[in-house]
Amino acid sequence: MSETVRIVACPTCRAEVRWEPQSRYRPFCSERCRLIDLGQWASESYKVPAQEESPPGETLPPTH
Ligand SMILES: [Zn+2]
Repeated sequence: MSETVRIVACPTCRAEVRWEPQSRYRPFCSERCRLIDLGQWASESYKVPAQEESPPGETLPPTH
């Protein structure tokens, strides 16, 4: 019984991922989940301020 494969949970979808060389996207279950997580991480660091070009109230209704 030397087969002690570690199972980790995919951070994105919580699927079980075998921690082994074949799992090239570990700790993610797939490339898709990895990209999703990277995207979230990237958006975290971006944190662009809310675009307030036209705040509500200043846009007057057309006077026809
Ligand atoms: Zn996943």
